[in-house]
Amino acid sequence: AAKRAFPAWSATPIEQRAALVDKLADALEARAGEFASLLTSEQGKPLDQAMFEMMGSIFTLRAFAAMRLEPKTLRDEGGNTVIEHRTPLGVVASITPWNFPVILLMNKLGPALVTGNTMVAKPAPTTPLTTLLVGEICRDILPAGVFNTVCDQNDLGEVLTTHPDVAKVAFTGSTATGKKVMAAAAQGVKRVTLELGGNDAAIVLDDVDPRQVAQKVYGGAMANAGQICVAIKRAYVPEPMYDEFCDELARLAKEAVVDDGAKQGTQVGPVQNKMQFDKVMALLDDAKERGTVLAGGEALDRPGYFIPPTIVRDLDDDAPLVREEQFGPVLPVLKYDDIDDVIARANDSEYGLGGSVWGKDLARATDVAKRIDSGTVWVNQYLAIDPNIPFRGSKQSGLGGELGEAGLHEYTQPHIINVVALEDA
Ligand code: NAD
Repeated sequence: AAKRAFPAWSATPIEQRAALVDKLADALEARAGEFASLLTSEQGKPLDQAMFEMMGSIFTLRAFAAMRLEPKTLRDEGGNTVIEHRTPLGVVASITPWNFPVILLMNKLGPALVTGNTMVAKPAPTTPLTTLLVGEICRDILPAGVFNTVCDQNDLGEVLTTHPDVAKVAFTGSTATGKKVMAAAAQGVKRVTLELGGNDAAIVLDDVDPRQVAQKVYGGAMANAGQICVAIKRAYVPEPMYDEFCDELARLAKEAVVDDGAKQGTQVGPVQNKMQFDKVMALLDDAKERGTVLAGGEALDRPGYFIPPTIVRDLDDDAPLVREEQFGPVLPVLKYDDIDDVIARANDSEYGLGGSVWGKDLARATDVAKRIDSGTVWVNQYLAIDPNIPFRGSKQSGLGGELGEAGLHEYTQPHIINVVALEDA
């Protein structure tokens, strides 16, 4: 269906395509409350965070609907004109994970459709419902076949990545699966963008108020129960303020309201699925042997995969909780006394997705940020993802990227038309 729809859709003027993407944003907005409840019920996040994801999704669609790809004149001299056009690729397969089922789809759907591609979207097996509702809404807005959904039991990813009619795979998920996607796409030299895992370090500088920054770091580590690719996954704190910083994190963790995301007042919902719950608990059990748990540390004794915000101190850099991506509400806090050394420790990772530096002296903090090998480093903030700013991982955190004009380019083929006149015969 996506292949059949491509010729007419790609020939539709970009203004019309963008207007339909805008209309889709309006339709999502009109049903945002229903979407947010569905998102909470399938993903587990508190309702206000689900609504925040919906608002971000709508904003993202509108941002892409406002972007244009103008032909670029590369040369126009001596009777030679060279113009770079950007043409759509064809059928795009979108493959998404379970932590942000809606916005991660919109990061792909927006640019794919505006640039004239059609799409087959496959959500994660444990969060299919919001993607299906997007499909239902698209049915009344887009021409048949432009947007399609398929659901699976974790067994259709490979069917999509190896399918001869798929021109590009837009993948967000773990690094392990990303490697499989890249290998499968290689057979057809398919275009591929990979948004993969991360192990973001937060480096706290010695000129800050420890309590103030601990509160911000806590927010960056525990939003969506830590299940964010760019969550703060390890925090490095100067030795003189280490105790105070850890104690403030522990105070916040102990105060957190952990409950069903649909209940008013819940701040931290459950971990989304059993596999992830088991992984986080295994990392935590190991960390208990190696370090000191200041808050949390035990799953709640109730049905569901509830792990309260957990703060662990005194771990070595070699501890699995520090080296691996925990993707859950468990934060290791590490000590440092030399800035060059802590930058090296932060960079000693196969991941390079995000990261943050916290400091009053902005020039110094920016200088440290420049030395962190990650696609994005935030200074005194976290999670500031914006559809107008490109987002991409370094090292094994990704390939290619999403968002911004660069993200739009990822859905097109540069097409060079190089013209000279015939000489007079
Ligand atoms: P996952 O890799 O297990 O699954 C992601 C998707 O890939 C799912 O839809 C799954 O069904 C599909 N899939 C499974 N096997 C496949 C195969 N062989 N070929 C193609 N697709 C296949 O990831 P997850 O556990 O759902 O998500 C968590 C991971 O996603 C974390 O590592 C997190 O950091 C990462 N993530 C990255 C970003 C980013 O933008 N960089 C954003 C969110 C999440």
